[in-house]
Amino acid sequence: MTTSTPAFIQGSKKLLIDGQWVDSASGQTIDAVNPANGELLCRIARGNSDDVDRAVAAARRAFEGPWSHYTPHERRKLLLRVHDVIMDNFEDLALIETLDMGAPLARTRGYKEWLSQLLQFYASQTGSATVAATPMSIAPNFTALKHLVPVGVVGGIIPWNGPLMGMWWIYGPALATGCTAVLKPAEDASLTTIRVSELMMEAGVPEGVINLITGYGAEVGQPLAEHHGVDRIAFTGSVVTAQSIVRASAGNLKRLQLELGGKSPDIVFADADLEKAVPGAGMGVFTNTGQVCVAGTRILVQREIHDEFVKRLADFSRTVKIGDGREEGVQIGPLISERQLDRVMHYVELGSRDAELVAGGQRLGGDHAKGYFVEPTVFANAHNNMTIAREEIFGPVATVIPFDTEAEVLELANDTPYGLAGGLWTENLGRAHRVSQGIRSGTVWVNCYGVIDPAVGFGGTKMSGYGGKGGKEHVESFLYPKATYFNIG
Ligand code: NAD
Repeated sequence: MTTSTPAFIQGSKKLLIDGQWVDSASGQTIDAVNPANGELLCRIARGNSDDVDRAVAAARRAFEGPWSHYTPHERRKLLLRVHDVIMDNFEDLALIETLDMGAPLARTRGYKEWLSQLLQFYASQTGSATVAATPMSIAPNFTALKHLVPVGVVGGIIPWNGPLMGMWWIYGPALATGCTAVLKPAEDASLTTIRVSELMMEAGVPEGVINLITGYGAEVGQPLAEHHGVDRIAFTGSVVTAQSIVRASAGNLKRLQLELGGKSPDIVFADADLEKAVPGAGMGVFTNTGQVCVAGTRILVQREIHDEFVKRLADFSRTVKIGDGREEGVQIGPLISERQLDRVMHYVELGSRDAELVAGGQRLGGDHAKGYFVEPTVFANAHNNMTIAREEIFGPVATVIPFDTEAEVLELANDTPYGLAGGLWTENLGRAHRVSQGIRSGTVWVNCYGVIDPAVGFGGTKMSGYGGKGGKEHVESFLYPKATYFNIG
């Protein structure tokens, strides 16, 4: 191991409400466990609907209080202070994330530059709420002003697969626009969000502007989605939970942003450069142990290179170093929990019945038996109608499906209820344009996979949700347009 445990990882963590760290109303806690060895790290507060009520009330007071008078310039300065304090403490944050959710340090440390860009992007967007004057066309004695004003209190509900990045899609635009936030991280990985929230208070975020309630989905997420004091929900997670959030939000017609799962196609044409396509498509599935919403889990390979590609992908998968994320050289860590491990192994069993298992498929034993490790797994000669090609596994499982023609592969690529992402590997420019335009998804990568620019953003269509993250539109979705007409005589 190359690291020591940060001092933050000890004792019981509290909830952040109105600038104070407080116990949950129930006084109960949840164990935060290291998925690499099943050991207890510390305890987090088990919030409930009373805590949600307190946090929403605090967020409302803050929204209507001095925070509403912050100028765009003051919000920009605040975001840049937050940026600096996060960067100064980044090594600890990366380690906390690795301990809490298992991703290797190579990955969590690697977020640093990206997060720096993300925070600077939001700092650059604080002027989005400024006034636009529109020339009047109805009569000469009227003029109008159009403001973009913050929607109010935003509830954020995020999953466990990367909270160090995922939390900023709520805190970032909330601070940029003058909204306030109540964040509910996943019960399986909350520690980074707690430490980041502490650091944000140190950076001078006013009381009540950000609030953090840890706990279970049914006990914190559901009341947040139902709460009439919440104006907007930004949710990232599964389709089933999103459907329940849509229902829960109906009471006060909340604005919703839903970023859900996928079964993204990654297409490899016979003319692709396999030196790039094999590791590119491989890590497009295996990275973060496959716990990535945009993972290119359906690898569609032109039949004439299918066997060659499969052989190379299987060989590549055996080179991927799996282990405790703190160990030098580890590329993928454990799955988040025993529950997730069982789920992935269930799909591996189903896949073994239907398709050809050419690599992986085993849980790691020996020194790794206490953690939730699964080998990178490759199924070949699969069909798009198999369960492993239709359902999101959220584990390091690649399903390779052969195809013959461009027309056929587009049909296969789009034959899924999801529409989050997709990729293609080809040396033919015309084909790259035709096929990328034909894939029905929010993002397509050509000869690369998984790149996300905060200023461009990403989002989904179909059952992958609606309302993107990043980009100007994301910031504007925390605002609503308001027109004021003046009779100027
Ligand atoms: P999940 O839906 O079970 O949980 C996500 C969050 O919702 C957690 O904080 C959970 O506690 C909360 N929650 C659970 N039930 C709730 C309820 N009834 N009301 C309100 N909140 C509730 O998802 P998961 O299994 O933890 O995460 C994996 C899913 O997230 C996958 O489908 C993955 O594709 C998706 N995901 C999507 C993106 C994206 O940006 N599109 C990013 C990461 C993960």
